[in-house]
Amino acid sequence: MGAFDHMVSQVKGFRSRPGQRDMAAHIAQTLADVAWEDDTPQPAQQADWVPSAGVGPVRGIAVVQAGTGVGKSAAYAATVIPLALAQQKRVIISTATVALQEQLIAKDLPALSAALPHPFAFALAKGRGRYVCRLKLEQLATADPDGVDLFDADMVGSSDAASSERNSQRREERGALYERWCADLDAGHWDGDRDRLAEPPSGEWWAPVAAERHTCTARHCPAYNSCSYYQARARLAQAQVIVVNHDLLLSTLGLRALPAPDDCYVIFDEAHHLSSVAQGQFTSAMDWMRTQWLDRLPRAVEDVAAGIQYTVGVDVTQLSKSIKSAQGELARMGMMRIAQQPAWTALVSRTPRSGERREGNDHPPPVIDRLDQGALPSEWVPWIESLQNDASALLKVFEGMATQLKAQARDNPGDAPRLAQLYSRLGVLAPRLQSVEETARRWLEAPVGQQPPLAKWLEAQVNNGLVTLSAHACPVQPGQLLRHHLWQRVRAAVVTSASLTTCGTFDHFLRESGLYGDPAVSTREVQSPFNHAEQGRLVVVQTQADPKDVEAYTHEMLATLMVDLQQVERGALVLFTSRAQMKQALLALEQGANRDLRERVLVQGDASRTVLLQRHGDRVASGLASILFGLQSFGEGLDLPGELCEWVFITKLPFASPSDPVGQARADWVKAQGRDPFSELVVPATGARLLQWTGRALRTENDQAVVVCYDPRLLRQAYGRRMLQGLPPYRLQRRVNGQDVDVNP
Ligand code: SF4
Repeated sequence: MGAFDHMVSQVKGFRSRPGQRDMAAHIAQTLADVAWEDDTPQPAQQADWVPSAGVGPVRGIAVVQAGTGVGKSAAYAATVIPLALAQQKRVIISTATVALQEQLIAKDLPALSAALPHPFAFALAKGRGRYVCRLKLEQLATADPDGVDLFDADMVGSSDAASSERNSQRREERGALYERWCADLDAGHWDGDRDRLAEPPSGEWWAPVAAERHTCTARHCPAYNSCSYYQARARLAQAQVIVVNHDLLLSTLGLRALPAPDDCYVIFDEAHHLSSVAQGQFTSAMDWMRTQWLDRLPRAVEDVAAGIQYTVGVDVTQLSKSIKSAQGELARMGMMRIAQQPAWTALVSRTPRSGERREGNDHPPPVIDRLDQGALPSEWVPWIESLQNDASALLKVFEGMATQLKAQARDNPGDAPRLAQLYSRLGVLAPRLQSVEETARRWLEAPVGQQPPLAKWLEAQVNNGLVTLSAHACPVQPGQLLRHHLWQRVRAAVVTSASLTTCGTFDHFLRESGLYGDPAVSTREVQSPFNHAEQGRLVVVQTQADPKDVEAYTHEMLATLMVDLQQVERGALVLFTSRAQMKQALLALEQGANRDLRERVLVQGDASRTVLLQRHGDRVASGLASILFGLQSFGEGLDLPGELCEWVFITKLPFASPSDPVGQARADWVKAQGRDPFSELVVPATGARLLQWTGRALRTENDQAVVVCYDPRLLRQAYGRRMLQGLPPYRLQRRVNGQDVDVNP
């Protein structure tokens, strides 16, 4: 460890601490025996790979929970990067948040690089869609604003004269903006990265010009040599350390956009997000209402086929019509189900009429209708089969034409601009066809053996006065997805976060992330250097009302919270479990003696997070009290050291109730296996959330803070005591009749 200590002492901003050394030693030990020879790769497509000792190369995966203050980025960076450089391997650091990416790129990696005898190159990898497609931009900047827009998605809105006038105006404005961007690119004032635009564009205006795999002929494109995305990729190829986010890493597996994970060291920081990211990645969806793209499809295929002398061989018009008619019929039947839901009646009654504005950005959630056990209504089956067959037949045509287009572009470079344009006409339609085919295929899938059925559901929403209805499907075990798609490709990895254990064990995390039973895994819990018992108190309020009696509990909890907030002299954070609960607290602030508190409160959603935190910091710095009201994302991501957060108020246990369709489907399946989904899924997930929420309180060794949890179940119920076991050792107190009394461990 001498080398590690020496290095950390050389790096500006790094500081050696006992926990950090422990973490570094564990990582070094785990990765020491990794074998890099390529003779025994794991078959990535093998269906039921269960890792077992002696199969494949020696892999090493260090799973480390590092409590707040350990300095985990220094521990892994100062261990893994020198090791990788010595072996001429590259390092990928994958994170969940932009904040951590910025810290690595702006602070940790430059400092470490400067301290090493041979500096290393590092870069931030962004998804293709963050870069402009120069070809599309130039075409749209010079297009007739009222002409056919090759890249437009279905226009959402009514088709009356006023609306088409508005659309035409918007196209003109958009054309002017695109012209400015073109000029900035040509002049070298902009590098095509969306994040570097002075004014962030709306998604609606960015989407038509964003680089996209399906519309890109890569080196056959006439703009390839000046393409922003490929230039960024070339810079990435020079980097020895690449910072990326989990989404991008998972979505590019097998696509060669990043170094192959089995040929480099991979560090997953904020790894507790991996399972939810995986779930999002493997959800497929098709829209049953917005089907205008199917009207454009036959013409696009006809034009492209004529342009490359391709014989299509199937009746594309008939297939498109058939898909449209199946989607129409399914939409009709789906809406009949949705309309029976009280939630739909409530959503429609709250939807502003034409010309009315919705207050703030408070969009109601969509109405979800899950198919029990993933079973389709029998009358839907022929329509779904028809969708899958027709979409599959059209995709074959697309694949044939794409192959021919690329071949012609290769053989006739002079014709590349025309061919690239034809390719992009297929490219805007291909992902939609793929979504139809994939979702329909998954909807038709029946569970195999002991496997759980896929989660399948409908989502209905009202957007700009138009009803939308989409069908979705997703496998319910994220761990299995990660095992098949990720871990089989990884040889050497560090998997870390401040919250990997729940209720005191790694089991839940390992199962959720697909690492359970993998012999390459070695776990270590590195305690925070903070003295929690001295620095913090955790007070559990014993309310009279049962939290299950929502009305009585909320009434009592808010009354107590208002009294507690009067004690706040500097920074505080109040974490709510729902928007409705937060709204009730805001109403309580408008009553009687609570009114003077209102001006001290900053509410999540009233301004951007950056602005809110700036205001909070300014108020605290000027000696005032400032109280942040927030929901789950504030419970996880805020770093408020010292006076910025002397109190954390938790209004109720943050139950991660499986209310989403995938969670519900999974809970049903666990129950059908004779197991208890509450104990197996809900309690560990809630324990993990509680660990994050309480973790907002102490951020440095000098902090002093109090966490107040108003939910008495944390002490009264066995599952509450299980969650307590997973929290750091705060001084634990029970509040009875206004008195905080120590609870003996
Ligand atoms: S190479 Fe691809 S992304 Fe780049 S400009 Fe051409 S089509 Fe667009």
